[in-house]
Amino acid sequence: MARALLIDLDDTLYDERHYVLSGFRAVAGRISGRFPTVEPDRLVAEMIEELDTRGRGKIFDRVLDHVGAGADPQLVQTLVHAYRDHRPAIGLWPGVRETLADLARDHRLAVITDGLGLMQRRKVEALGIADLVGEVFYCWEHGAPKPDPACYIEALRRLDARPEDSVVIGDNPQHDMAAARAVGCRSIRVLTGRFAGGDDAGFPPDAVARSFTDVAKILRDEQFGAVA
Ligand SMILES: [Mg+2]
Repeated sequence: MARALLIDLDDTLYDERHYVLSGFRAVAGRISGRFPTVEPDRLVAEMIEELDTRGRGKIFDRVLDHVGAGADPQLVQTLVHAYRDHRPAIGLWPGVRETLADLARDHRLAVITDGLGLMQRRKVEALGIADLVGEVFYCWEHGAPKPDPACYIEALRRLDARPEDSVVIGDNPQHDMAAARAVGCRSIRVLTGRFAGGDDAGFPPDAVARSFTDVAKILRDEQFGAVA
């Protein structure tokens, strides 16, 4: 039986905010195509401001309102699709590629990612990680959004690994650590991205890493137990 690492994508291997900004630029390009007097950079700045003050949900509606396009549901849908389908300008955090290659020498790796399959596939393509990990699981396409353990169980089966020999690595306690507990894997929480400053939400990990590049050291630490 192999030792498997079941690794989250967003905010674990790269900065998800960079994806969001990349999507905003794609959307701004669409809007300024229709309203040529509107500066794309100004639109991006407005979308960031909306995101940071009022959160996700109605960002495109509000920005269209600002350019005088009012609430046009069809145009909003066009923009949502432009966002989801865009080819993101994103990159792995420094050292992540080398860490994945290092870990792959004595573990089998799978990425397990939540979110719309189209978006997540675009991210995986842009990050160029398919050659570094054995499998990529798109939870929503399995009808099993995190923390549903179904994708994790399937990943262990495909990697021929037992839960007690395997480790879930991710940034979101309520998704990644909760799934690890449900499946019976150990877990490492990375303190990167949106949840870095939050508490463990009742799902304490077995270890905490400042970033993904610290994971190899933790796995080789005897304190982490028989897993590594
Ligand atoms: Mg994540």
